[in-house]
Formats: sequence, C-alpha cells, structure tokens
Amino acid sequence: MTEPTGIPDENAAQAASGPHAEEEVTLRCNRCGKPITARDAVLTPTGYRCKECVRGQQKAFDTTQRLDIVFGFLISAVITFAGSWLVPRLGFITLLVAPGVGLLIHNAVRAAVNRRRGRTLNQAVLWGSIIGALPLVIITLIPLLTISGNIVPSFNSALPLIWQVVYSVMTASSAYAQAGGIRVK
Ligand SMILES: [Zn+2]
Repeated sequence: MTEPTGIPDENAAQAASGPHAEEEVTLRCNRCGKPITARDAVLTPTGYRCKECVRGQQKAFDTTQRLDIVFGFLISAVITFAGSWLVPRLGFITLLVAPGVGLLIHNAVRAAVNRRRGRTLNQAVLWGSIIGALPLVIITLIPLLTISGNIVPSFNSALPLIWQVVYSVMTASSAYAQAGGIRVK
C-alpha cells in the first residue's frame, strides 16, 4: 500500500512527538511540494502545508484595510454595550437574544467594511464585543462584592451577573462564529 503524500505515517508522528524527536523531513507541503518536518507542517483542511504557504494563503484571504479593524472593534463594542442594558429585563430570554445580537454585529460590521474580511477583523469583532459587555458585567458585580462581606451571595442575587456573563460570552462567540473566525483559525 502506498501512502498518499502529505500524510505522515505512524512512525513519523511518533518520532516527532517522542522525547528523542529528530528534525526529520517526513512530509511534503501539498501546495509547493517543499519537504517539511513534522514540526513545521500545518494541517489544513486540504492536507499538510508549509508555514510559508499557510501565511501566503492568509494574506490573500485578508482584504481588510487598517480602518476596517477600528470600525469592526467600535461597532461590535457599541452594539454589545447597548444590548447589555436589556439583559436585566430579559432574564433567560438572553439565551435567545444574544446570538441575534452577534448576528446584528456581524451584519453591521460587514456593511461598514464593505464586505472586506480578514483574520484581524474577526479578532477586532471578538474583542469589541467582549469589551462592550464588560461595563455592565462590572456594574452588576460590584453590589455582589460589597454585600458578600459576611454573607455568601445567594444564587438569586448572583443571577443578574450570571446573565450578563452569559450574554457577553454568547454575543462574542456568536459574532466571531458568524465572521467565520472559528472555522478559519
Ligand atoms: Zn508550501
């Protein structure tokens, strides 16, 4: 049986992960054909590639301009921040609303940057939505800290904070997933 190129055999994988791993050339980049070591190989959906080719691909994929990153961050932060004020009234409905806020962020950013896309933009959206949710997380956290001097905060008193955190995590991951950030990584 012949091994298809670009896929390491078991011995090679073992040698690379073992304590006496040697920098043996065991793979070939399936794009440029350059021999690569197991350590330098990057597994892509289409097979193993060298780092140079992966970097080249990412550059070609990234069409963003510098200002897009700023817009992406600000739009995500503002929408997430605005939405976070609704969370105390929403309660468990937050679970349904947060993914929608993520979608809204994605569409707003996409329109603002003229549908350009890129890895840095995805990260700007992710950080924007995390930071946008932060003020209300902190505001709901403070009363808990001040009353917990001698009493352990009850589940009910911690609930507003829990919803804010849930909102923050769901909105950020939804906005990031919409942008393809999770898949592209
Ligand atoms: Zn290559």
